[in-house]
Amino acid sequence: MENCIFCKIIAKEIPSYPIYEDEDVYAFLDISQTTPGHTLLVPKKHVSDIFDYDETLASATFSRLPKVARAIESAFPELAGLNIINNNKELAYQTVFHSHIHLVPRFTKADDFAIHFGNHTGKATAQEMTDLAQKIAEQVK
Ligand code: AMP
Ligand code: ZN
Repeated sequence: MENCIFCKIIAKEIPSYPIYEDEDVYAFLDISQTTPGHTLLVPKKHVSDIFDYDETLASATFSRLPKVARAIESAFPELAGLNIINNNKELAYQTVFHSHIHLVPRFTKADDFAIHFGNHTGKATAQEMTDLAQKIAEQVK
């Protein structure tokens, strides 16, 4: 897609630091290096976000995650963890609108990285939880 920075990276029109490539995906270093080895995995086909994938493209893309994760694990014997993150839409921190998956290697609690999961356990009633699940479940196609 025109004016998409990741399409340009995939097409080698702008440089990147390659990790892995095949017919479906490209993995390369994230320029921000949140932690050393911070990697992005992208489908070569331009899709904006998770809502754009069909099952074939999702299989091709997400199935490559363990391969790249294991490469990071092997490259860093000191690795203590790995966060895998996929931001969708601006509110959810997406800034590049060619879908991508972050692999963020974790080394110590002092890593320049954080996620906050609010914990609201017990605040919704069982009926509210049932209704919420049903509202989503009936939309699964
Ligand atoms: P997100 O905020 O989830 O959309 O992530 C976009 C990511 O793309 C950020 O972590 C940026 O650092 C990264 N990024 C932007 N431009 C480049 C580039 N030219 N090469 C590698 N990574 C990039
Ligand atoms: Zn693109």
